[in-house]
Amino acid sequence: MSDCIFCKMASGEIKPDVVYEADTVLAFRDINPQAPTHVLVIPKRHIPTLNDVEPNDRELIGDLYLVAQEVARREGIAESGYRTVFNCRGDGGQEVYHLHLHVLGGRRMQWPPG
Ligand code: AMP
Ligand code: ZN
Repeated sequence: MSDCIFCKMASGEIKPDVVYEADTVLAFRDINPQAPTHVLVIPKRHIPTLNDVEPNDRELIGDLYLVAQEVARREGIAESGYRTVFNCRGDGGQEVYHLHLHVLGGRRMQWPPG
């Protein structure tokens, strides 16, 4: 997807503040953080939304969570706790249509979410 900002980050055309990189996954700091730690974990391949995830993507989705876990450790929030979120489409609050897992921590999260 040539006009997708997260694809440009995955390809290196735009350089985000990367906190973790692997073959198929990239994690970088959110430009508008909603918590002291706010990292986005993305597949490098363009998948628009959670609705577009297929059975063949099982391992990739698992990897997103394993990277979230590693990011939480590195950021020092693994013990205090954190939240992981996929926003999906309009009512879910999704603004960037390239799948991304939010990792939020460093403060107490509220429930229910707004
Ligand atoms: P969502 O609303 O779930 O689609 O989340 C999109 C997130 O991407 C928001 O938290 C934005 O702040 C973040 N974002 C948008 N553009 C950038 C960018 N260039 N670098 C880092 N994060 C971004
Ligand atoms: Zn993309």
